[in-house]
Amino acid sequence: MTTTIPHWIGGRAVVSASGRTAPVHNPATGRQTGTVGLADDAEVDAAVASALVAAASWRDTSLAARTEIMFRFRDLVDAHRDDLAATLTAEHGKVLSDAAGEVARGLENIEFACGLAHLLKGEHSEQVSGGVDVHSVRHPLGVMAGITPFNFPAMVPLWMFPTAIACGNAFVLKPSEKDPSVTLLLARLLAEAGLPDGVLTVVQGDRVAADRLLAHPDVAAVSFVGSTPVARSVYATAAAAGKRVQALGGAKNHMVVMPDADLDVAADAAVSAAYGSAGERCMAISVVVAVGDAADPLVAGIDARIDGIVVGDGTDPATGMGPLITAAHRDRVAGYVAAGEAEGATVVRDGRGGVPAEGFFLAPSLLDDVTPEMSVYRDEIFGPVLCVLRAPTYADAVALVNANPWGNGAAIFTRDGGAARRFGRDVTAGMVGVNVPIPVPVASYSFGGWDASLFGDLAIYGPDGIRFCTRQKVITSRWPAEPSAVDLGFPRTR
Ligand code: NAD
Repeated sequence: MTTTIPHWIGGRAVVSASGRTAPVHNPATGRQTGTVGLADDAEVDAAVASALVAAASWRDTSLAARTEIMFRFRDLVDAHRDDLAATLTAEHGKVLSDAAGEVARGLENIEFACGLAHLLKGEHSEQVSGGVDVHSVRHPLGVMAGITPFNFPAMVPLWMFPTAIACGNAFVLKPSEKDPSVTLLLARLLAEAGLPDGVLTVVQGDRVAADRLLAHPDVAAVSFVGSTPVARSVYATAAAAGKRVQALGGAKNHMVVMPDADLDVAADAAVSAAYGSAGERCMAISVVVAVGDAADPLVAGIDARIDGIVVGDGTDPATGMGPLITAAHRDRVAGYVAAGEAEGATVVRDGRGGVPAEGFFLAPSLLDDVTPEMSVYRDEIFGPVLCVLRAPTYADAVALVNANPWGNGAAIFTRDGGAARRFGRDVTAGMVGVNVPIPVPVASYSFGGWDASLFGDLAIYGPDGIRFCTRQKVITSRWPAEPSAVDLGFPRTR
């Protein structure tokens, strides 16, 4: 018995009539649990049409009324943390505590959006010229669209729609077709909080729905989060269609470990950041760069800690690491372990074995003596495979980090404040950790990588999110106290 997973259009669940569907699995058992309808162009058009109608009155809804809805949404998400986490684990596979952490980080973004009355304040300058005042206001864009990846099915949508909606936009979300249910739960909670019908729409689908959103004339802006090749193409397509666009891509996050670092702390951090959520995090550490003498004890420390990781069903509290999202992805990741071995890496840990027979499991793998030419280093693997590269000096390590095409996160582990400060200035990544392996910014900052990890000018959520979801208007006013006269000269300040 599997469930049918609907769209959320016009404030209610709508079962797709497109005739196209995709299976949804519980990755821990490998069994199909649901069927999601995949929107065709007509369904996307209906979703955008309902959003367009809703956007017109939503932009005129007072800040006080919008704020009240955001606060109620915040309380409802808080009250439903366990349901959200359980829904997420059932389709994604990550362990329940990790799913709860995802919900908590998403909640931060709702809390940020609750401050919209302050965030949307403009500026005012009096008497910029004789009798002339200037003020700036931020207006919503209209209908915005979001296209999100499978790996954070609650948090990444929450990076987008609370800010967009608080700013006065209607939002059409196309979640990943692999784990679509948690977004429906979020949409229901926002409706319960009092959001008018049509302000948030969830349209289920695959590339067909994404392509229609990118081409739709009534979609003013697109936020995308996913892999780099798709992000690059989404950016080019949406920008060519005249839309505002931010497209966040994949990553290969490096953790540099200096010889003076506390190697126990560094080994704990490397294991947590490489194998948490089975490595399916865009801010996972997938490469450790061990500098000088740090290498041997660090690799031994990581190897020893892997023994403590229990791989299994994420609903079991004893489990530390759940399955991968699909059988195909599990096989692709396993293929990289084989490729690393064939290309000359030292396989310290081979995760292809000793895992539950059912479900899409792979145990942690650790590859040492990796070099930049190997495919395990060049490609984003997005699984529980940690590569160790050895660098003689700090300068060699930073050169290595900066030569890789991505620039999402990078971390340094050291006791030397000077080295840490230098790293913060030298490294070409958008989010940097000092003794912090996964430096995801809190909601009052913005999240965004450099280079092939972000296409567009503005990062997501936080202050950049407000800028992305609004456009500024500057109003210059004069209320003449004295009679006016014709003046054909260019207006000058006086
Ligand atoms: P993906 O690129 O395959 O899919 C992302 C979304 O795009 C999905 O909704 C999918 O249906 C849609 N899509 C797929 N192909 C498309 C196409 N050709 N045109 C338009 N839309 C398309 O990514 P995924 O496998 O779901 O997620 C994993 C990837 O996301 C990893 O590369 C990871 O690093 C990245 N990611 C990045 C961040 C970040 O903040 N930079 C955060 C999370 C995940």
